[in-house]
Amino acid sequence: MKRVLIVGAGMTGSLCAALLRKVSGTLYLAVWDKAGDSGAEVYLRHCVTQINLRNGKWEVFKETGSPEQFDLVVLTIPVPQILQLQGDFANLISECQRQQLESVSYSSRYALGLFYEAGTKIDVPWAGQYITSNPCIRFVSIDNKKRNIESSEIGPSLVIHTTVPFGVTHLEHSIKDVQELILQQLENILPGLPQPVAIKCQKWRHSQVTSGPAKCPGQMTLHLKPFLMCGGDGFTQSNFDGCITSALCLLEALKNHI
Ligand SMILES: Cc1cc2nc3c(=O)[nH]c(=O)nc-3n(C[C@H](O)[C@H](O)[C@H](O)COP(=O)(O)OP(=O)(O)OC[C@H]3O[C@@H](n4cnc5c(N)ncnc54)[C@H](O)[C@@H]3O)c2cc1C
Repeated sequence: MKRVLIVGAGMTGSLCAALLRKVSGTLYLAVWDKAGDSGAEVYLRHCVTQINLRNGKWEVFKETGSPEQFDLVVLTIPVPQILQLQGDFANLISECQRQQLESVSYSSRYALGLFYEAGTKIDVPWAGQYITSNPCIRFVSIDNKKRNIESSEIGPSLVIHTTVPFGVTHLEHSIKDVQELILQQLENILPGLPQPVAIKCQKWRHSQVTSGPAKCPGQMTLHLKPFLMCGGDGFTQSNFDGCITSALCLLEALKNHI
């Protein structure tokens, strides 16, 4: 039974796994992602660090635990993270492939989460709002309302996304300073908000793709025997359609190898 690994459980990786499962029930299929808690067939907290060629198979290393061997590997992680992978992988891709991957660029932004005590009222009539008149803040959501999980037992939470120009300008600034600036600007948009019980400011270095590689829409085959390919919104565009297009291109290329 061929062993297939999909790295990344974002939209592209998940779609690709579901499609692959549909066309071939006889594969061992694993999905590894560095984030969250594990579920069936999807192994989370599996951050891939290194890929080596061993006896005609890919030996894939993760941050913790033993490496595992696979016949085929599909990378759906952001392109800059593909380029950071260590091991034989770094020498096996051609200079042309490397240049194409290096040409993929992303916008950057920050996200700020504000968490409130149960029973706190955030008195606005909307669940989410695009902001067009602020240099720092682009989007605010009452996140529990947006997700339709309002409850008297769990406090509300606010999520704020910054504009890309703000994200780029402050990319290397301290999180503490950036958090303070966002909070100051938020006061102009939603004055008099209650005091949150917890705040989380997250740098989003690779947010949305601004330009992809010219010659390989949808996916890029990095190695033939054993088969290694990459896809994701970096090879199409940053939206749901882009992920579907990439997953379909990955599947089409994979079909000849499973
Ligand atoms: C602010 C913002 C707003 C957006 N709004 C919309 C919208 O309204 N509508 C829309 O259609 N799209 C929207 N998008 C775009 C959409 O979210 C992306 O196009 C989509 O999430 C990309 O999916 P992906 O699977 O290709 O990549 P990702 O979602 O980036 O998934 C990659 C996965 O790989 C994992 N990973 C990374 N490195 C490793 C590693 N070394 N080992 C293991 N796992 C790893 C990550 O944890 C992640 O889960 C938005 C994006 C942003 C940033």
